[in-house]
Amino acid sequence: MERNFKDSRGIKVGKYFIPSVLLGVCMGLGFLFFSPQFERVSPVVKFKQSEFWNMKDNLEIELSDNSKLTSYKITYIDEKGEKVLDEKALATPISKISLKLAPPKLDNIQKESQVKIIIEATDDSRWGFLTGNTTDNTYEVKIDNKAPITSVVNNSRYIARGGSALVVVKVADENLKNAYINFSDKMNFELIPFHKKNYYAAIIAWDINIPFESFTGANVVAIDKAGNKSSAKIPLYIQDFAVKNDNLNITQEFIDTVSKTVLENMNEEVPQDLAARFVKQNRELRAKNIAKIKQVSLKNIKKDMIQDFRPEAFVRLQGSQTAAGFGERRHYFLDNVKIDEAWHLGLDWASVKNDSITISNGGNIIFKEYLGIYGNTIIINHGLGLGTLYAHTTNQFINIGDKVVKNQKIATTGTTGAVLGDHLHFGILVQGIEVNPIEWMDQNWIKTRITEILDASKAIIDQNP
Ligand SMILES: [Zn+2]
Repeated sequence: MERNFKDSRGIKVGKYFIPSVLLGVCMGLGFLFFSPQFERVSPVVKFKQSEFWNMKDNLEIELSDNSKLTSYKITYIDEKGEKVLDEKALATPISKISLKLAPPKLDNIQKESQVKIIIEATDDSRWGFLTGNTTDNTYEVKIDNKAPITSVVNNSRYIARGGSALVVVKVADENLKNAYINFSDKMNFELIPFHKKNYYAAIIAWDINIPFESFTGANVVAIDKAGNKSSAKIPLYIQDFAVKNDNLNITQEFIDTVSKTVLENMNEEVPQDLAARFVKQNRELRAKNIAKIKQVSLKNIKKDMIQDFRPEAFVRLQGSQTAAGFGERRHYFLDNVKIDEAWHLGLDWASVKNDSITISNGGNIIFKEYLGIYGNTIIINHGLGLGTLYAHTTNQFINIGDKVVKNQKIATTGTTGAVLGDHLHFGILVQGIEVNPIEWMDQNWIKTRITEILDASKAIIDQNP
């Protein structure tokens, strides 16, 4: 019995002992394998440096790990040798660390040289013979500590609030990222390649929304891919603009018919309250329509190098009277209560119904669409960021993409949009901003402020290659 028992037990052990041990070992290994303490993911490095480094900005490095970091080391290597920028063994391991490392203080940095940044980090995992997982990444960085060259070649001497000016500049950098003209710390104007490499021209505008007193100057600004930035001041004499204030009484009929139609045509909800409905049309919708004009104009700026730009004076609609001017500040009243105000930023020319609109300068049709308060609107691009806007039209004889020429009939006047009587709203656009058209209707102004500046600039550029 006893022997049998032993035997039977022996058989049982022999049959199941080894598989049980193997299973146990496997489960144990499995436990270790899936245990956070034995994770096998190396620390993650975020190196927030572009391909170029100006050796002024700190290197921004973020290290993280799903267990915890125990040590790291950041090394800078160039042709002359290496320098440890930071190295730490963390007494208390942490899961995430953000480093901002100052550039090494070196005597003479090799400009345009290629350097290496080595980032090593180790985590708290028991994996890898208890030494932890290690990351060892090498990043190649190009040194560029040279600021772009920026200088003003020539420009219109004057700019008036609401008006335009021309600027020609030189901008040069091997790794140029962006260059523009900043106006009064409020807005930027794009540069268009002009005449020769590294030279640019731009028509700039003083948006009438920027008050005379708050003008802070205009500058050409350039930034390279390493973050080096430079700027040069554009010398300008400034002139104020005499704003004309107008009080307008809005009738219930206007809000019932015109405001309602304009909002409906743009798929906007129509508020029941009369004042709210007018304000929505006059303020909200106007802002959207103005934003659209700017967006379309900027999208269509050509960046091909230009050699010449000689617009002729823009001419008033033949036989028309000017019904409203540029820079009128309109104050709107409903039942003797002021409900809103807005700028009028073009010239309203009224003559006979459905009068023919012919154009004074050739260009390209970049917009032909119903645009809220502007009604059926056409925009022509004349080059160098200059455009013209024709609003409230009835029939259009052109299409988007058409090249149009001087004296071409493009449309007829009408009453589409937020208007009562038949007229043409004519606007001049500088990079999509409505400016004072009176300047551009004056051939002498165009000559002294635009074409002579371009001609003189070419002579200066040709003397200084
Ligand atoms: Zn108008």
